[in-house]
Amino acid sequence: MTADPGEGTHVRHVLGAYVLDALTAGESREVSRHLQSCDRCAADYVAAAEAVSLLALLREEDLLE
Ligand SMILES: [Zn+2]
Repeated sequence: MTADPGEGTHVRHVLGAYVLDALTAGESREVSRHLQSCDRCAADYVAAAEAVSLLALLREEDLLE
């Protein structure tokens, strides 16, 4: 295992909860601050947000049928 370069702890493991707004206010603030300084996590955040919105679309269509 190689230590990640850059500052602090990466937030990838909580991005799902962050996207779903399931974190505490303090945690959310830490995540958003990290996203501003970390391209890798920011890219993961975009992917997670897209996945969630796709999921929401699917659920909506399921409801319509
Ligand atoms: Zn990061």
